Amino acid sequence: MSAGLVVVGGGQAGFQVAASLREAGFADPVTIVADESNLPYQRPPLSKAYLAGKTDAVGLHLRPDAFYAEHRIAVRSQTRAVAIDRAARTLRLGDGTVLPYDHLVLATGARNRPLPVPGADLAGVRQLRDLADADALRAALEIARRIVVVGAGFIGLEFAAVAAARGLDVTVIEAADRPMARAVSTETGAFFRGAHEGLGVRFAFGAGVASIAGEGGRAGAVRLSDDRELPADLVVVGIGVLPNQELAAEAALSVADGIRVDAFLATDDPAISAIGDCTRHPSAFATGLSADGTVRIESVQNAIDQGRCLAARLAGRPAAYAALPWFWSDQGRYKLQIAGLSGPSDLSVRRGAGEAFSVFRYRGARLVAVESINRAGDHMMARRILGAGRTPTPEQAADPAFDLKAFAVA
Ligand code: FAD
Ligand code: NAP
Repeated sequence: MSAGLVVVGGGQAGFQVAASLREAGFADPVTIVADESNLPYQRPPLSKAYLAGKTDAVGLHLRPDAFYAEHRIAVRSQTRAVAIDRAARTLRLGDGTVLPYDHLVLATGARNRPLPVPGADLAGVRQLRDLADADALRAALEIARRIVVVGAGFIGLEFAAVAAARGLDVTVIEAADRPMARAVSTETGAFFRGAHEGLGVRFAFGAGVASIAGEGGRAGAVRLSDDRELPADLVVVGIGVLPNQELAAEAALSVADGIRVDAFLATDDPAISAIGDCTRHPSAFATGLSADGTVRIESVQNAIDQGRCLAARLAGRPAAYAALPWFWSDQGRYKLQIAGLSGPSDLSVRRGAGEAFSVFRYRGARLVAVESINRAGDHMMARRILGAGRTPTPEQAADPAFDLKAFAVA
């Protein structure tokens, strides 16, 4: 009997490859080994609607319980995969079970980068990655008065918007000189700085955290490297993630800020593939951005599209992974949508004004990304245009009379 397919990780990518395999008629056994206690769920609402108390945990599930039985997907939850024996094609689990596989999929995601300063382990210092973190933060928001957020990335800003909407005192500390410095243009960053300040959020840019001071084991203040001290009864750290690549590395698979995969999402071992936040893959969209043309992307789109792409290969219809990266972030009443990948030196061209505009990013003569703020129509057209590898001129992009939709569908 076939040993079937085993997926490590019950997040967005692990769920997707299993579900897509069944859709494609894959008949062999499928098992997901998942260390969390919940059914596979979506993380984006954890820093948005769920944090704000606008949806419950059941609303986060990617599918109800019955789906897994109906589709013959076995989910071994609260179970950690601890070692791969590539020669024997087996996976050892934390409870001692040894699972054989014909094909193994690593969908282990990422974990939060720890803040490497004294006091980071005090009560009242929190991070946000999973449902348990979000529950703890929801409870903390009920009693917090003064909040310091470390990191003006997606987590920090989405959290700050929810906390500020509750009337709480929020200061965001960021090492760079503007918000989302790695993800968006100076123009978009400046807009979001102003938007958050309008919500009552304060910023400290170019600031490092030296330590977190506390009394009785609880955080009371954040000390900055320039000696300033910011009182805080809640500190939320959102300073990026590290890929969960150790399982692969210990099995002697190549890793370099992510498990290395080829265009078909295969690792060095043809019996092992990897998808989602934990992988580094070659991408035409990374040309000019990374020295070797590979990228590690942390997004729902990438997790879903890589899950689908891998399922198609395993079901006998191989195609190279070539999906356009896109992202979104909801911060207060502002909806940011990004299509494509840009870098700090790319040219910016603005289309639209006020609180609804897009920034078209050019690398040389090529359009590489479009950031849209409250302009969902531009975002959808940008996905078509970038996906087809086309480029309106910067003059066309800036011209309000230029028909972007007609250009996109032509
Ligand atoms: P994950 O979802 O991290 O799943 C990996 C799973 O594998 C985890 O459950 C992990 O515990 C488990 N695991 C790891 N190692 C093992 C092991 N050895 N054995 C068993 N299980 C293991 N993206 C967007 O595009 N838009 C958003 O608005 C957005 N908002 C976000 C908000 C928050 C608060 C967070 C945390 C992330 C957000 N993201 C967003 C990012 C997005 O959720 C991730 O990119 C996506 O979840 C990646 O899916 P994944 O399956 O690769 O990893
Ligand atoms: P992130 O978006 O990478 O942002 C982290 C920010 O913290 C960066 O601006 C980083 O600056 C800064 N930083 C790093 N070290 C710091 C320090 N010591 N002090 C102060 N600032 C510091 O990561 P994140 O916001 O933590 O999000 C975690 C994960 O969740 C990511 O995978 C993210 O994509 C995902 N997420 C996505 C969304 C979304 O897409 N809407 C929403 C929430 C979460 P440098 O760049 O200079 O290091």
